[in-house]
Amino acid sequence: MNTRYRRRRAATAYHEAGHAVIAHMLGCQVMLVSIVRQGNTRGRAHSDSPGDPEQNAWILLAGPTAQWMSGYCTRRVVWRYLWRVSDGQDLGELLDRVATSDAEKWATCSKWVTDAEKLVKKHWHVIDRVARALLEHRRLAAVQFYAALNGDAIPPLSIPRGIDEEGWLFSE
Ligand SMILES: [Zn+2]
Repeated sequence: MNTRYRRRRAATAYHEAGHAVIAHMLGCQVMLVSIVRQGNTRGRAHSDSPGDPEQNAWILLAGPTAQWMSGYCTRRVVWRYLWRVSDGQDLGELLDRVATSDAEKWATCSKWVTDAEKLVKKHWHVIDRVARALLEHRRLAAVQFYAALNGDAIPPLSIPRGIDEEGWLFSE
């Protein structure tokens, strides 16, 4: 495995762990976290989402924030590419819901970014644990995610793997 690939995979693990851990901290149920590549997507964190747009934005931004905070890529690169991926598109839709003018959208977005950075920093030790577990296991079903979160041994899965409606491998 070459270094560039390894760094990219580590950055993805921190990205997905960021989404999942902050979703959990905001009271959402996490169903699956994966760094298994599927089509154009390098990973995903599947959880239910809070009704509140601001909390939704924190979860969306926790991914890219944890990605650059991991040190595996720069903050500049992460924000430059954000708008080309689904996180950026979802964030744009949230901003459309809560703000009307460009100035208002910019101010709201800046505030959400600052809030997300504080949340990710606060829960960094947990994000780090989950990212390391992801690098080792590549996908964590709910029960495994919660074990990683608590620093427990990751239980093996007794449930068969399958493919969900979006074509993702899952294991619960
Ligand atoms: Zn993401």
